Amino acid sequence: LVGRMRGFGTTIFAEMSALAVRTGAINLGQGFPDEGGPASVLERAVEAVRAGDNQYPPGIGIPELRRAVSEQRLARYGQAYDPDTEVLVTVGATEAIASAVLALAGPGDEVIAFEPFYDSYAATVALAGARIVPVTLRPDSGRFTFDPDELRRAVTARTKAVIVNSPHNPCGTVFTADELRFVAGICVEHDLTAITDEVYEYLTFDDAAHLPLASFPGMRERTVTISSAGKTFSVTGWKTGWVCAPEPYIQAVRTVKQFLTYVGAAPWQHAVAHGLRHELGWVEALRASLQAKRDRLSAGLESAGFTVHRPQGTYFVQADPRPLGHEDGEAFARALPGLAGVVCIPTGVFYAEPARGRHYVRFAFCKKDEVIDEAVARLRHGL
Ligand code: PMP
Ligand code: GLN
Repeated sequence: LVGRMRGFGTTIFAEMSALAVRTGAINLGQGFPDEGGPASVLERAVEAVRAGDNQYPPGIGIPELRRAVSEQRLARYGQAYDPDTEVLVTVGATEAIASAVLALAGPGDEVIAFEPFYDSYAATVALAGARIVPVTLRPDSGRFTFDPDELRRAVTARTKAVIVNSPHNPCGTVFTADELRFVAGICVEHDLTAITDEVYEYLTFDDAAHLPLASFPGMRERTVTISSAGKTFSVTGWKTGWVCAPEPYIQAVRTVKQFLTYVGAAPWQHAVAHGLRHELGWVEALRASLQAKRDRLSAGLESAGFTVHRPQGTYFVQADPRPLGHEDGEAFARALPGLAGVVCIPTGVFYAEPARGRHYVRFAFCKKDEVIDEAVARLRHGL
């Protein structure tokens, strides 16, 4: 590879999904559900295509979706965003993250992110010519979280932004009010912008509840809030996301977005607007079903000999194969299709320094029960 993307190559998700196809292994790597979204949402996309909504939509997204997002933020979190000036539709959360990072950080700047982090954060910070500064989440207290002093020490005169992903991929942590209050305090004290990745906002378990960082004191005016329809409605292939932020941020992010993709595809926008308005009951049923799948896969992995870190949200469980005699997660993940016919993701790739995460692998449980059961049976037999 030449240029700024030296060192990035193919994403781990593409690589491990290709490995699953090549070996015929069960793919618990890349996080995508094996069942579709709400019937009325799927139907609305087909209707939009048939009705001729097939040309470029407005650059900021169709009014129906911006209004639906604005209503959703208000109803769920009590946060008001003007659908005409403070909401922007993007090509998935991925484009929103890239546009926000490119708009806000440049050469010489630093962007803090909680590590392990979703792979696009490091890549887009590199594209911006900026530097990513990791603050490591550790499982010492039973769930993966950060040391407040470490976050404080990560801030320098060059820090521009903090990326906060909760519910967190791959750790499954849902940050508490106290944790978010601390992050908010640091942002306010040092005049930092927060970029939040809330794509798993509906997928929380037990008594964990998602709280938007923008709802903490001093944060609404400095937070770029990002979410997406992929996880909420089990339509990861639709790549329809959005940004909610004060107008100057929306304008900055939109300016980048218009040269990345100009606009997102029109039909999905109609369908997602319909989903946000009419199918949140379906989403609650999805949440409950994922909680049961979380328990099913966690218990299965434990019975196969892994140490399991049960997540509070998302699609993913972090597992440690050391009790099975495997020290290195990356080598283990690459060997697993041969050993047991299952694909997982080595979590080390989500660390600035892969050695820090070398003991972990990530398994996705957004799959049919019979697929989870078959994967567990193979792991119990093969390891
Ligand atoms: N952020 C996180 C934490 C994710 O897990 C994903 C994966 N879907 C994304 C962003 C990307 O979302 P989208 O597919 O909407 O671009
Ligand atoms: N978000 C999903 C994951 O973490 C898929 C991401 C991707 O394929 N880029 O597995």
